[in-house]
Amino acid sequence: MLEDVREWYNMELALKAVESLKRNGFSAYYFKGRSEAVEKILGLVPEKAVVGVGGSITVRELGLPEILSKRGHEVILHNSPDTFENRRKTLVADVFLSSVNAVTLDGKLVCLDGVGNRVAALAFGPKKTIVVAGVNKLVRGLDEALWRVKNVAAPMNVKRLNRKAPCALNGLCVDCDSSERLCRAILILEKAPARSDFHVILVGESLGF
Ligand code: SF4
Repeated sequence: MLEDVREWYNMELALKAVESLKRNGFSAYYFKGRSEAVEKILGLVPEKAVVGVGGSITVRELGLPEILSKRGHEVILHNSPDTFENRRKTLVADVFLSSVNAVTLDGKLVCLDGVGNRVAALAFGPKKTIVVAGVNKLVRGLDEALWRVKNVAAPMNVKRLNRKAPCALNGLCVDCDSSERLCRAILILEKAPARSDFHVILVGESLGF
């Protein structure tokens, strides 16, 4: 029963976001579970497409790099090998696959980056873009999205990457001047970029940060 209520709530919010995303020019979908979401993503990736993957725990939690490699795709991970050149290659891949840090109920995407390759590829470059996000990233509006980016996503990523920025101590952003600062570029997509082929898949589970 409790699980049913959670599922219902997540679905209602996600469907609202899907409708808003569509109004903003994105192709948007909701799936209750990760296996249906993965199936949809695989259906969106054309045969033999070169797939660039942004820094995303969500994409890795779904096992997508391995699944796509097994299917015969060239998969370019932003950090494997951890080179500037590899990041540049993801910008001109056939498909760019990533998550974002927040999805607003009125259909905007918000994404934080340290190097900038992920926000660059989400704005322009790849022929097709696929964003996948769990319902934990749904927020009411832009203010909450920016709060989430700095006080949820960034501290957890700072901790994961073993950076020495202040938020790694207590989980709170102090808008630091640390050389280890992760937060260097924030992208807000208010609408799907013009001429893009942009798909957003929301999943009724908690995924990534
Ligand atoms: S600005 Fe600094 S303290 Fe704030 S979340 Fe980013 S890295 Fe952490």
